[in-house]
Amino acid sequence: MIWRESGHKEAGPFQASDLKICDLCGALNLAANDECFVCRWRGRFERRPEVVKLAMELLERKHGRLELALLTNAHVYHDPVNHRLRARIGCFFLRIRHWFFG
Ligand SMILES: [Zn+2]
Repeated sequence: MIWRESGHKEAGPFQASDLKICDLCGALNLAANDECFVCRWRGRFERRPEVVKLAMELLERKHGRLELALLTNAHVYHDPVNHRLRARIGCFFLRIRHWFFG
């Protein structure tokens, strides 16, 4: 096994539970991504920690360390989308309240 269980200081801020692997193209993604940031896949993602850790190790070897830019991009990262969605839902409920209560 190539994964070192301890003393793995290059892992950076990411845990295996923060990440997932695209079943379609194999790209490591942030678990928070709504879809694969590489191929836009929205289906199943591999989330088993032992498999994700291996993918993290490979990506670190390739790029030196794991960085946010290697795991997501602004288009699929869920926070901005959620903010927009939340704002839209907020508007919707305000409108309904306006209909009922004036
Ligand atoms: Zn993909």
